[in-house]
Amino acid sequence: MTPTQLKPAKRRLRRSFGRGGRATPRPSGRGQKASLSSVTAGKHPKLKIIPLGGMEEVGKNMTVFEYGNDIVILDMGLKFPEEDQHGIDYIIPNISCLKGKEKNVRAVIFSHGHLDHIGASPILLARLGYPTIVGRPLTLAMVKHRQEDYEPKSSNRLKTITIKSLSDRFSFGAFRVAFFQIEHSIMDAVGVILETPAGSVIHPGDWTLERDARSGNPIVDYRHLARVKRPSILMLESLGAIDVRKSGTQDEMKKNLETLIRTASGRIIIGTFASQIERIGWIIQAAERLNKKVALDGYSMKMNIEIATTFGYIKARKGTLI
Ligand SMILES: [Zn+2]
Repeated sequence: MTPTQLKPAKRRLRRSFGRGGRATPRPSGRGQKASLSSVTAGKHPKLKIIPLGGMEEVGKNMTVFEYGNDIVILDMGLKFPEEDQHGIDYIIPNISCLKGKEKNVRAVIFSHGHLDHIGASPILLARLGYPTIVGRPLTLAMVKHRQEDYEPKSSNRLKTITIKSLSDRFSFGAFRVAFFQIEHSIMDAVGVILETPAGSVIHPGDWTLERDARSGNPIVDYRHLARVKRPSILMLESLGAIDVRKSGTQDEMKKNLETLIRTASGRIIIGTFASQIERIGWIIQAAERLNKKVALDGYSMKMNIEIATTFGYIKARKGTLI
């Protein structure tokens, strides 16, 4: 999540869509459960959706999906402490509801590499006995790096499955998992579709409403999502959704950033989250066009850019980074 996204409204709204397509507002809060009871009464288990963070709050994103003896988890994020929480480095989701069910966890899927989605992974994966983790290459590299940071030489405990293509499909117990393209401020972010006999869940992770700058087409393929097996639930990240002002496009932001860098006199100091890798890439590109050098500061900042460079997501000319 970006600082600009945080400002408008520190509130998330989530809705679920039942069989008739009617939008039903769900009460939200920590640890609340929702189930598709309309189609699951009787012989089939219910699909339980248990958010352990990320609802009515910014950060700590983690959702547990449980169907019978199968559990799939989406994200394990941390939350940064509020101003009055002195002495606390970060806050992680409470997974006590999974006690005794560790063996049922078939997979942990990471939607993208921001800390509010992967930050708690070294602690929580260990507590769950290192279940299989799933993500796109940059996301998994960042999870591995976080693991090494927490406990050196421990990333070999991670059992990983890489999403090589958005058309990849996986089965984890009763869950069938598919993916879709979304737009977010970090590379390799992915939306997730979880299909169970009781119904499907569409979860975009963090996303922005963005259109392709050239074609004008939406980046999210809604027609593909409309074909998801019914009944379906849409779990929608909607931070800032009640802000009615028109939001700038990525393209406009990129241009603004370059204008600011070009028109500033002297040295420029830019503060940003270390995981805003795409935007840091923009800054490096702008600097190269304007014959400026870039000095990265901070351990995570340097490390993330090194990881992104390894994957070819950031291409800096020799001598740009000093
Ligand atoms: Zn994010």
